[in-house]
Amino acid sequence: KTFAEIDLVNVLNENIKRCKYVKPTPVQRHAIPIAIAGRDLMACAQTGSGKTAAFCFPIISGIIKNQLHKEQQMPLRGSRTTYPHALILSPTRELSCQIHDEAKKFSYETGVKVAVAYGGAPINHQIREMDRGVDILVATPGRLVDLIERAKVSLRMIKYLALDEADRMLDMGFEPQIRKIVEQMDMPPPGERQTMLFSATFPNEIQRLASDFLSNYIFLAV
Ligand code: AMP
Repeated sequence: KTFAEIDLVNVLNENIKRCKYVKPTPVQRHAIPIAIAGRDLMACAQTGSGKTAAFCFPIISGIIKNQLHKEQQMPLRGSRTTYPHALILSPTRELSCQIHDEAKKFSYETGVKVAVAYGGAPINHQIREMDRGVDILVATPGRLVDLIERAKVSLRMIKYLALDEADRMLDMGFEPQIRKIVEQMDMPPPGERQTMLFSATFPNEIQRLASDFLSNYIFLAV
């Protein structure tokens, strides 16, 4: 199966071609149709498996199909709060920047805005970035909690949540922050959130996270 045979929006297929991706990797071949169908997903994926595209393609395609990027997501006058439609959580600055770079290539000329926020760097530049409006936010958990507490970001409009390298995030002690973040999305009115969890390993803590955050999910081991 090629990318063209998967039900992605056309602009995205153009960008996939431009990235010289010809054939989906195994995790992409299985995860993308499940996610496009709107199902929650827990997937086993190592670095280098192509997992970034596996969660980015359905998110970008879904945002464009539902025209979410055309909705008001710029900060309302005076409120200075940004309402992204998708959130990608990752454990480190390096991984977040990598995901951000790829997501930007996939979103080229689509009008979908991607931004990144990570700890260990001055927050002011990231706040200015939020002020420009964000559809897809890539973030490390600690810095995101900071931005939420400063009311720079609200997760009330999140439709897609991807947790990348979930086992590593737990190893790094991010579980309290992750729970706090997901709680923000579960505030009333209950959003119709689609969640994708990617992890290399599946200890009990990951299973618990999955049963708390995902609903009626498909487990994918490739
Ligand atoms: P990832 O596992 O998402 O970090 O991807 C590993 C590398 O493989 C990245 O450099 C991607 O750009 C590349 N890649 C991902 N999917 C494909 C594909 N279907 N065809 C060719 N290269 C790919």
